Amino acid sequence: MPETAVKQTHEFKTELRQLLDIIIHSLYTKREIFLRELVSNAADAIDKLRFRALTEPQLVEGDTSYKIKLSVDKSAGTLTISDNGIGMTRDEVMENLGTIARSGTKQFLEKLKASNATNRPELIGQFGVGFYASFMVADRVTVISRSALPDSQAVRWESDGQGTFAVEPAERSSRGTDVILHLRDDAKEFLEEYRLRTVIRQYSDYIEHPIVMDVEVERDKQKITEEQTLNSRKAIWLKNKSEVKEEEYEQFYQAITHDFEKPAKVIHMSAEGTMEFKALLFIPSKRPLDFFWREPKSALQLYIRRVLITHECEELLPTYLRFVKGVVDSSDLPLNVSREMLQHNPMLARIRSNLVNRILKTLEEMKSSEAETYQRFFEQFGSILKEGINADFENRTRIADLLLIESTRTEAGKYTTLVDYVKNMASDQKEIYYLVGETREQLEASPYVETYKAQDKEVLLFTDPIDEFVITTLSEYQGKPLKAIDRGQLEDDAKSEALKEKTKLFQPLLEQLKSKLTEVKEVRLTSRLKDSAACLVADEYGMSAHMERLMKRVGRAEEAPPSKRILELNPEHPLVQAMQKLHETAPADSRVDQIASVLYEQALIAEGSRVKDPAGFAKRINDLIVSGIKV
Ligand code: ADP
Repeated sequence: MPETAVKQTHEFKTELRQLLDIIIHSLYTKREIFLRELVSNAADAIDKLRFRALTEPQLVEGDTSYKIKLSVDKSAGTLTISDNGIGMTRDEVMENLGTIARSGTKQFLEKLKASNATNRPELIGQFGVGFYASFMVADRVTVISRSALPDSQAVRWESDGQGTFAVEPAERSSRGTDVILHLRDDAKEFLEEYRLRTVIRQYSDYIEHPIVMDVEVERDKQKITEEQTLNSRKAIWLKNKSEVKEEEYEQFYQAITHDFEKPAKVIHMSAEGTMEFKALLFIPSKRPLDFFWREPKSALQLYIRRVLITHECEELLPTYLRFVKGVVDSSDLPLNVSREMLQHNPMLARIRSNLVNRILKTLEEMKSSEAETYQRFFEQFGSILKEGINADFENRTRIADLLLIESTRTEAGKYTTLVDYVKNMASDQKEIYYLVGETREQLEASPYVETYKAQDKEVLLFTDPIDEFVITTLSEYQGKPLKAIDRGQLEDDAKSEALKEKTKLFQPLLEQLKSKLTEVKEVRLTSRLKDSAACLVADEYGMSAHMERLMKRVGRAEEAPPSKRILELNPEHPLVQAMQKLHETAPADSRVDQIASVLYEQALIAEGSRVKDPAGFAKRINDLIVSGIKV
């Protein structure tokens, strides 16, 4: 007898075991969503079969009356969800219902464990545990499935969700899947017709396939059983905007995203004329939990004349708009288009540019007429949208206009824009000044902004890791070059005669410092500093300190060989003046070198870098203080 002919017990993969444990023991306020998950799996199974049958009609054997059926057995306490979709082979059952293929499960579990119980439902919802949501209402789940592939043997899977599941051969007269839920005592409400009706209406109404149930009705004073369809089956995206209520949009959004929040924006569009398609798109209010560990790919659902082609069509949106969720239904694409063919389809490319245009337009409108909503959106998704400046040359300026940026003139947490910056520039200002770093506080306190603040010139403050790349690509806005203020010589310095004179006076000291401080390329005087004694600036074309730190952090330090920077000194600062005096009288005094090292190290700290030898730094400072006290 082959091994597969007998009942076998298997253990769930560790991660799944933990997940089940959490599902079963969590407080779940909206546990009725298990039904949405199971119905959606059933609908997917039908869609998969229908799609394959386009090229392999033998799979459906003429039976295309697709449906999903709910059956209740009150005495046994079971609710069964059946479909006549593609079904599963034994191997598929083992693969699909014993592991979680999705990436990021580990991170998800960690987050889940760290959160308190009341937040959990939301987290679970966002992760979309699908089938396993059954265990919120059932203490035992049986699945009987038969694949639509020819000569398939049915298979039975069963588990109490406690760590193991059993698989054995079974009987099923035709293709499809039954999910039998042995309802827990506290979930018996799901045996009631009205309850099931409400839940289906609420969460699965738009499902195209009929969701049916046998219902007892009275006809001519006789009780008979009739099969009733519980959902209206009208694809919401095909309806007219005026026909759809706000909460219907919300429920549809929540069904396809597993989000518990309302979307920030709904875009319902219908293109007619040379290209016909309908789209229902959503901009979420919050970043989904798995956003950062998910592969950065866009994924809209693609339908062709109501037939679901794929859940995750990457080609419909560029990656920088991957936060947008929703559905596109095209009337022009051929139904038998293969998923591979989608990649180079010119029609799809046209739909895509249409969608991009519409999404950007929506964001533009949001920005101008719903500033607060837009700011919330930008705080959640701005760093993704920005990728478009690199990736979408055609729309670069539009995306640049959508950026919200902090500056030395905005309060913390408030933003300006490039348009406003340029509008507020003094007429003789030729460049847009900016500074990139880790935090706003650090940037505002940095020596570089001192002179700009004193002259009441606005400096844009960028703190998002991606900003450096974005600005490098953008390089200018409305013909005004973007100028990093921690790079290159200050324009005023280059022109200043007074500074030239001072430099002559300081020359011997500057030369000594340069030979002592081998880490820097040059030591020069500057007028850019007001309160600080020294700062480090990058060469006009060198890599900035921030970029260097970034490259190090992403493990690509070899692409960013430390470029030597320039140490600039403030000749008006008492410490610099003291050093100069000391050097004039006693150039060999060890304190000259000591002060030089301290100035260099302070400049490193001010720009947000680390000093190489913190203990040595502390000692040098202490020695200087002590020598000062002695004097
Ligand atoms: P998801 O649906 O998000 O992939 P699930 O845990 O709900 O995750 O389901 C896991 C897999 O099990 C599905 O991807 C599908 O391949 C399979 N599956 C679940 N329900 C059915 C069904 N009714 N018919 C066929 N396959 C199913």
